[in-house]
Amino acid sequence: MRLVWLRTDLRLEDNPTLFHASQQGHISCVYTLTPQQWQEHHDATAKIAFWRARLIQLTQELAALNIPLKLLRLQHYQEVPQALYNYATSINAEELWFNNEYPVNERDRDDQTEALFQQQGLTVQRYEGDIVIPATQVKTKQNGVYKVFTAFCRQWHKQLNESHLHILPAPQKQKITTKDIATLTTEEPSAIAMTAWGLSDKELNESVFNESIMYRDDLWSADTNHIHQQLANFCQHQAANYKEKRDIPSINGTSTLSPYLAAGMISIRQCIHAMRQQTDDWRNNQWVTELVWREFYRYLLFYYPSLSKSYNFIRMPKPILWEKDETNFHLWCEGKTGFPIVDAAMKQLVQTGWMHNRLRMVTAAFLTKILLIDWRKGESFFMEHLLDGDYASNNGGWQWAASTGADAAPYFRIFNPARQSQRFDEEGKFIKRFLPELSPLDKKSIHTPSTSQREACGYCEPIIDYRWARQRALDSFASAMGKE
Ligand code: FAD
Repeated sequence: MRLVWLRTDLRLEDNPTLFHASQQGHISCVYTLTPQQWQEHHDATAKIAFWRARLIQLTQELAALNIPLKLLRLQHYQEVPQALYNYATSINAEELWFNNEYPVNERDRDDQTEALFQQQGLTVQRYEGDIVIPATQVKTKQNGVYKVFTAFCRQWHKQLNESHLHILPAPQKQKITTKDIATLTTEEPSAIAMTAWGLSDKELNESVFNESIMYRDDLWSADTNHIHQQLANFCQHQAANYKEKRDIPSINGTSTLSPYLAAGMISIRQCIHAMRQQTDDWRNNQWVTELVWREFYRYLLFYYPSLSKSYNFIRMPKPILWEKDETNFHLWCEGKTGFPIVDAAMKQLVQTGWMHNRLRMVTAAFLTKILLIDWRKGESFFMEHLLDGDYASNNGGWQWAASTGADAAPYFRIFNPARQSQRFDEEGKFIKRFLPELSPLDKKSIHTPSTSQREACGYCEPIIDYRWARQRALDSFASAMGKE
């Protein structure tokens, strides 16, 4: 018997461990609930509820193939190796199979698990299920690590071959023997108390700003067919215009597949494969390039474990002197900065569990440059709310915006929220959706309402003077970079 440990790979198809283990004979699956660890990682309550919804479906999908799924109720990653070992021996499994994850805590947990199993004479098999090309295969001519995206992307395409994009089918239905029936009694995820998922009734009823969502299953279905249909629709009808539409937050110009990719409900290979079926020119499609950004951030995490420990990627001669302004930080979190595009974006995050990429850049730049608040605070807040919260991409995005990351925005490039708003939400449609109080304003004044318009709409004054704050950021970053 082989034990397959499912993690951020909650899918049947194109799941390397699931497929290859099932090719060897009988398999059984396990998933570890570690709510305390999730809390320490700032994982959003909504995201955990979303994983739970997916596991409810996955249990049924696996049961149809006679594959049991056991949920182990733990608290912390430290408990995982022993608990998995105990469970494996209880079902007479001789092998543990899993797909790799890249942040340091996950890697430590996995290495400790592997060590324990090997000490006890059991085999461990590890696969790559979350990236297309293993990090070790994308190297510079001097066998170094890429730090610039364009060069990485070029080399990534050079290395890409048929085997990287081969989509694995779901495992076949297992034949059941009488002996197996005992192990097949699966505990329904829905029957497990919410507290075991770290979702206490108190948390469910209470919300950070009384508008925080639990998990909007009307917006984010965890159904496999739905997810595949969404991918197919996007590739057939939207991908061709993605480059022109992806920056407009008021329209459906992007795939909104990120929550599914982050939890492995769909694989990046399946996404690229779907694009490849659509057009011969798929390699030049901007959407594929965005998927390669996802690979790039995982690649960096693999080679730079310090990124998992909240270090800046760029080591500056002097520290950036961040403002410790809790009031401004909370006003940013609550969408009460008085900059309409920033506030509307923050409302989108808190109300839907997702934020448009352009707005992630605008809000992150606003926090780190205009308010000069440490990117780590924004990174955690995003993680606490995003359904697609993913360590590699979130850390990469935040460090990009804060000009501390690999191939990041240069420090002197400071987004002007009003300009961004005029450019990407010209008519103010997005702003009006999330700040309905500004609906009476016309498309010219909605980006920077006057004091009397703010009063009439019941909308706050800007919490900071943009020009002054911009200069402060330039001075602070120049000083940290030793460019005074
Ligand atoms: P699409 O535009 O349809 O792109 C397809 C997929 O490509 C996405 O689902 C995502 O998996 C990947 N992708 C696209 N853009 C990027 C990017 N810039 N970096 C890495 N991957 C990308 N993405 C996350 O998945 N999780 C996060 O926690 C996250 N945090 C971010 C924080 C900040 C400050 C910034 C600037 C970006 C962050 N991103 C994150 C990247 C990006 O904003 C989202 O992936 C994207 O908005 C998701 O929407 P979509 O699925 O419609 O993307």
